[in-house]
Amino acid sequence: MNSFVIDNVDLVLEDGIRERAAVLVEDGAIASIGDAGSLKADETVDGEGLYLSPGFIDLHVHGGGGADFMDADPAACRTAIRAHMEHGTTTIVPTTLCAEDGELARVFEAIIAVKYSDDAKGLPHIPGLHLEGPFVNPAEAGAQDPEYIKTPSREAWEKIIRAARGELLIWTVAPELEDADRMCRELRDDGIIFSAGHSRATYDEAVRAYDSGFTMATHVYSSMSTIVRIRGERVPGLLEASLLRDDVTCEVIADGRHLPEPLLRTIVRMKGTDKIVLVTDAMRGAGMPDGEYLLGSYKRGQRVLVFDGIAHMPDGISFAGSVATADRLVRVMTKVAGVPLPDAVKMMTKNPAREIGLSDRRGVIKEGYEADLVLFDGDINIRSVFIGGERTV
Ligand SMILES: [Zn+2]
Repeated sequence: MNSFVIDNVDLVLEDGIRERAAVLVEDGAIASIGDAGSLKADETVDGEGLYLSPGFIDLHVHGGGGADFMDADPAACRTAIRAHMEHGTTTIVPTTLCAEDGELARVFEAIIAVKYSDDAKGLPHIPGLHLEGPFVNPAEAGAQDPEYIKTPSREAWEKIIRAARGELLIWTVAPELEDADRMCRELRDDGIIFSAGHSRATYDEAVRAYDSGFTMATHVYSSMSTIVRIRGERVPGLLEASLLRDDVTCEVIADGRHLPEPLLRTIVRMKGTDKIVLVTDAMRGAGMPDGEYLLGSYKRGQRVLVFDGIAHMPDGISFAGSVATADRLVRVMTKVAGVPLPDAVKMMTKNPAREIGLSDRRGVIKEGYEADLVLFDGDINIRSVFIGGERTV
């Protein structure tokens, strides 16, 4: 039996910090939790008084380490997920951009190949895919290439679903598009999670979408409708519906650049700490030096500039995704938004685990749960990463 103790750590639990504690890991799972020095095994890892939290779970990420999932290449896929693993991510949901069907199919194939490859052990878990588009509103394309945006039709969505071979987990769709509601009602029973985004939905359209089964909002405040004035009347949008509805979980790009501190605090005030999932929405520049990068695939990607901790579109007007990693999101939520560490960690662990149906085995430090763990210091600098009880960083 493979067993070891991570000793002398401050455990980040759901409801607070347990100081001077230890965790016994046996056969890839958390076997018991005790006081520092009280647990015995063949091997002991000295936690040096660092924080030990559950591994981070990123539900929306396009790339990192110079690679993009749209490269449609297993080697690039591994590079991207390794780059995020270095920063504490132990479960990752590769996210695609709008692209033509053949290209999407090649991207799916590459990610699925990595997920089921022999060396998948020792890499972050890939529970499934997040499709950002192609059924989004061209008026809120953001950094998506408008050329590949489509309107929903059964033929179009069935083709994509076939290509995804049962790995489709989250689908970002603009709910105001004709047949988007029908698509959601028909597919959510198959376990696909619908997230409203890249959308110009009015408040009423957003409420209809949430009533018909959308359960998440994609990167709130970014590429989504908010208050407009029509003949003097203020009409709220998808943003207000997403913040108000208690049954909706909001993705938050807490890189400290997409959303300034007052908006981060507004979201926390509106949603509480349970209905927020921190996401990087990172592109290939994450974990890399400043410079020029492609957003999307090498073949069809758009040139973007990375500086000041963010990717900029060449027009200088909008952002082109983040270069954040999960540790930075937790750092920003604690140091900038003033959220207590256990709550910020919950938004990066337990909440996303619950959204994708893994709350019975991942996202908290609890006996019987998978030993996906990260060790970090008070500034959230990652020192070690364990995935399924194996030290990977
Ligand atoms: Zn994205």
